[in-house]
Amino acid sequence: MSKLTFKQTDTLGEPQEKVSEDRIKIIIADDEQEVHAVTRFALKDYQYKGKKLEFLSAYSGEGAKQLLRDNPGASLILLDIVMEKDDSGLDVAEFIREDLHNNLIRIILRTGQPGMAPEEEVIYKYDINDYKEKTELTSRKFRTAMTMALRSYAEIVTIESFRIILEQEVQARTAELQQKNSELERLNKELERHATRDALTGAHNRMKFDTILEAEIQRCKRYNHSVSLAMLDIDYFKQINDRHGHAAGDSALREIVALISGQIRACDVLARWGGEEFMILFPETTLEATRVASEKLRQEIEDYHFDKVGKMTCSFGVTQLLHDDDFESLNKRVDDSLYEAKRTGRNKVICK
Ligand code: GH3
Ligand code: MG
Ligand code: MG
Repeated sequence: MSKLTFKQTDTLGEPQEKVSEDRIKIIIADDEQEVHAVTRFALKDYQYKGKKLEFLSAYSGEGAKQLLRDNPGASLILLDIVMEKDDSGLDVAEFIREDLHNNLIRIILRTGQPGMAPEEEVIYKYDINDYKEKTELTSRKFRTAMTMALRSYAEIVTIESFRIILEQEVQARTAELQQKNSELERLNKELERHATRDALTGAHNRMKFDTILEAEIQRCKRYNHSVSLAMLDIDYFKQINDRHGHAAGDSALREIVALISGQIRACDVLARWGGEEFMILFPETTLEATRVASEKLRQEIEDYHFDKVGKMTCSFGVTQLLHDDDFESLNKRVDDSLYEAKRTGRNKVICK
């Protein structure tokens, strides 16, 4: 703290230690000792709405800043303009509004140099309530200026507290809204998942697959690219169910989807076509490459030990999009291939 500043507890003011919380804090910033004494004396009996004043004294601009920092609840500062510098008071006013961001405290500027009023711009910029000459210190007018400043302080504090309540309300509402939004987003994703994925295995459902396949057919025909399809069906799955139970069958369906998903490329699309029938779309893939991939898959499945049901095999039908194909003809050919694989012994890949 500046050596020029100390808390005054002389006989003119109440000893500050005894001052109760509900007193109105007034800062007197003035480099003339006498001004402090006269001000305290002049306002000795002054009350605002039944509350007495508590005076804090600073004798320099820097001292005033320290008092302001230490007393954010002060209601009013009686601020001398010329102290250690010609514009110390204005410097303090700027500090209050721009550094402390204290827009509540009222400021009454005082000067000993009559005729040297601060610029109107300054009064406006730093929200200064009044400007008094020190000769007016004891006049009625000064008490009136105090009352007006303290009234405006009370009003500003009320408005500010409403603003804070409102702001908190808005924040609470915003948080609530954000929570509802993310809940909505989550539900939308869930809905999207239900609409496009098979609930048991998580593979694409048939509806989604049809949409993807239709788009892929259009794209490949337009750009003359190749696309192939594999349709696979678990062999004798009815018997597996009968032997191990439906729940074990379900678990095997989940396992086979995980197994296939781990083998195909990220761009390939696996869908659950029906009960134990699956479809795989291989974009940018020739018939031969699809046959090789399918054969590898068939072997993987044959070699795999399913947790609840042990061994299973699959039959594969494979085909490629031809120039004259549409959705139906392509689907029919892949289905025919699978049928032939079934008819001719199962656990094999037939290409058409
Ligand atoms: P094939 O080798 O000719 O394909 O014989 P399959 O027994 O596999 O074929 P079929 O069409 O006769 O039987 C299919 C079985 O798949 C019957 C049905 O209960 C079972 N299935 C279909 N969907 C599910 C399912 O979600 N869970 C279980 N556990 N079984 C299912
Ligand atoms: Mg089957
Ligand atoms: Mg079947």
